[in-house]
Amino acid sequence: MTGNAKKYCDELYKRVVARNANEPEFHQAVQEVLESLVTVLEKHPEYIELGIVESIVEPERQIIFRVPWTDDTGNIRINRGFRVQFNSAIGPYKGGLRFHPSVNVGIMKFLGFEQIFKNSLTGLPIGGSKGGSDFDPKGKSDAEVMRFCQSFMTELYRHIGQDVDVPAGDIGVGGREIGFLFGQFKRIKNAFEAGVLTGKGLLYGGSLARKQATGYGLIYFADEMLKAKGMSFADKTVIVSGSGNVSIYAVEKAQQVGGKVVAMSDSNGYIYDADGIKIDTIKQIKEVDRKRISEYIKAHPTAEYHTGCEGIWTMACDIALPCATQNEINEADAKILVNNGCKVVAEGANMPTTLEGTKVFLDNGILFGPAKAANAGGVATSALEMSQNSMRLSWTFEEVDAKLKNIMINIFKNASSAAEEYGHKDNLVVGANIAGFVKVAEAMRAQGLV
Ligand code: NDP
Repeated sequence: MTGNAKKYCDELYKRVVARNANEPEFHQAVQEVLESLVTVLEKHPEYIELGIVESIVEPERQIIFRVPWTDDTGNIRINRGFRVQFNSAIGPYKGGLRFHPSVNVGIMKFLGFEQIFKNSLTGLPIGGSKGGSDFDPKGKSDAEVMRFCQSFMTELYRHIGQDVDVPAGDIGVGGREIGFLFGQFKRIKNAFEAGVLTGKGLLYGGSLARKQATGYGLIYFADEMLKAKGMSFADKTVIVSGSGNVSIYAVEKAQQVGGKVVAMSDSNGYIYDADGIKIDTIKQIKEVDRKRISEYIKAHPTAEYHTGCEGIWTMACDIALPCATQNEINEADAKILVNNGCKVVAEGANMPTTLEGTKVFLDNGILFGPAKAANAGGVATSALEMSQNSMRLSWTFEEVDAKLKNIMINIFKNASSAAEEYGHKDNLVVGANIAGFVKVAEAMRAQGLV
């Protein structure tokens, strides 16, 4: 079989590109996974023969819909809504909603595809999906965001459900948006089905520690990577891109475990504070005031602000945590990080490193934690929120946090041992893809060609 699996993956990749034209992010995500699977498919040619590999790169269902709403001046606005239900072999579809002007079907598909493997890695029974809209919540009033969310849910509600598909937040969708979406779902259905959305407010079915989960989970994962090599966060210089939900709680936990975070960013620029970022100031600017990160230097005049978010990767650091968006680290950025002494990269955002950038890190022996594994704490805790909703009870913060930590430790162990078993020791990119894939592939085999 040697050689055949590689040939099959190359040909399948070409078909995916031809069939999904103009979707470069989706092609990138598929290419990385197919390259990782070659050694598995050599051992298990039945995954090819049974059509499992070909099926897994094709979404089960894609929904695209119109979202009409009126702004505060009475103007009619039309946005586009998406939900890509990629794979339900191991559980109901599960994945976030992204509201950002860059959203298109290719970005939804890359995110939904990645979600299959990530959700499988958590060890919890959740399939993969993703959705969102090209609506930009930035600069909109609360009333405009509410009207948009209500219109969006008026179509989406018929495609989701606590045993069907369970959306959550992502870029541009936080507690405020989830609240408006849940309210409209409840009104249309005339039923309080709490498990239909996760990331809910604590007063109506949300889970303690969900807000912190992706960022905290990222640090628990990175800590395992460090420990495996006899290192720790103590006294390490850390840079974290972005200043949203994932970034803020990654910084908070990195500081708790002894790291010194010196830089953060938003889409306009980055701040550098040699004394260590004051996370309470960032929370006030981003979570409460919804303003730009440049405001930070008003409160801390010794810090620096630089326009252009890409510049953050030129800062010297031991640990880099990209937590903003896809492809924010390219080959050139990766080389600069390596030359400046960076030893560890763990991805909080989804696919923040290009394939060329990832290669630079792996070739230079950088400890590299891929998004599917490293940022799975968010969706894992969403699944814990679903469990609490089903049982109609709430666990304490400490209980949820302990479960999250345990899940992240297990993801690290599973990805590392899969990498080793298939001859790619220390390559967590390959290890995470293999460990995530095998479980879904076995479930698909058991369920037949559906
Ligand atoms: P938020 O909307 O809370 O924050 C996003 C942050 O990234 C903001 O600082 C934003 O800056 C910046 N950003 C967004 N788009 C761009 C861009 N095109 N260029 C530069 N900066 C950008 O989102 P989250 O923190 O929830 O998500 C961040 C990443 O983490 C995403 O890749 C998401 O898919 C991933 N993720 C999120 C999970 C979650 O639980 N929330 C779970 C797993 C992964 P600005 O304010 O200027 O727009």
